[in-house]
Amino acid sequence: EAKARGKNTFHFFSQDLKDAAKDRLELENQLREAIREHQFMLYYQPKINLETQAIVGYEALIRWLRPDNSLIPPSRFIPVAESTGLIVKIGEWVIWEGCRFLARQRSRGLDVDLSINLSVRQFKDNKLAETVERILQRTGVEPRRIIFEITESMLMGDTDAAIHQLNQLKSLGVSLSIDDFGTGYSSLSYLKRFPVDELKIDRSFVQDIPGEQNDMDIVAAIIAMAQQMNLRVVAEGVETAEQAKFLKDHACFVVQGYYFSMPLAEQELGQLSFTVN
Ligand code: C2E
Ligand code: MG
Ligand code: MG
Ligand code: MG
Repeated sequence: EAKARGKNTFHFFSQDLKDAAKDRLELENQLREAIREHQFMLYYQPKINLETQAIVGYEALIRWLRPDNSLIPPSRFIPVAESTGLIVKIGEWVIWEGCRFLARQRSRGLDVDLSINLSVRQFKDNKLAETVERILQRTGVEPRRIIFEITESMLMGDTDAAIHQLNQLKSLGVSLSIDDFGTGYSSLSYLKRFPVDELKIDRSFVQDIPGEQNDMDIVAAIIAMAQQMNLRVVAEGVETAEQAKFLKDHACFVVQGYYFSMPLAEQELGQLSFTVN
């Protein structure tokens, strides 16, 4: 009895593994097709300056538009793209498309910046800076308009290699931001070694302010730390007027979040306007 059940359990378990492997392979094949068939698009989430109420720039966020018209969020395909290495190609497309977007904005008289997320594999690619340089040249985008977002974990491990890559990118004139800041391991002395320009406070610290004293303290500390280190600071995931006010009162002036706007397709950006108290 017990033996039979054990066998059964094993059977189901291995079937689950097979199913998972099959799903993964299928997703991988679909991703290859998506690259060939140009099924990706960028959404843009405005970054607002709370003092001027102006849109200072956008963050590019990738979406996968399937032939059946479903829109797949990055959380559903970036991990597989990353583990298969397909992310390098997809990420290069993101930089191209982001720069073409900036060039279009510029031609309409709009001088905005664009934050572009980099993945681990992309960041480790020793051709990255070369690729970025070529794209900037071809699209005529001013390097200072581009902000590459990396995460704290990408800076771990081989720190010399990370510093080298950051310097390569910085020498092009682009700026660098640490995304989801506060969720990884960072200390002041550690951070100081990396040539970054901006800290982006993670949404998880923003969501319960004001009210949750711990989070209020953390947010205030990150802002103070950024000031101390001469770094810009941006907050993500702002969903309420109270959160925006808290950030403004603590001198974090650039924010993004659903309170102002969801990420939008380019053709939807025209109608946006903001009133911030
Ligand atoms: P992220 O870079 O931290 O981007 C912020 C995420 O929070 C986005 O989710 C955005 O839609 C969402 N968000 C913005 N405002 C709010 C808010 O007020 N409330 C809440 N609850 N969420 C908000 P999204 O677009 O699904 O992207 C998820 C993650 O996928 C990104 O996190 C980023 O790590 C990754 N990602 C997105 N686009 C790219 C890309 O082009 N390349 C790479 N490598 N990764 C990307
Ligand atoms: Mg980001
Ligand atoms: Mg983020
Ligand atoms: Mg985040």
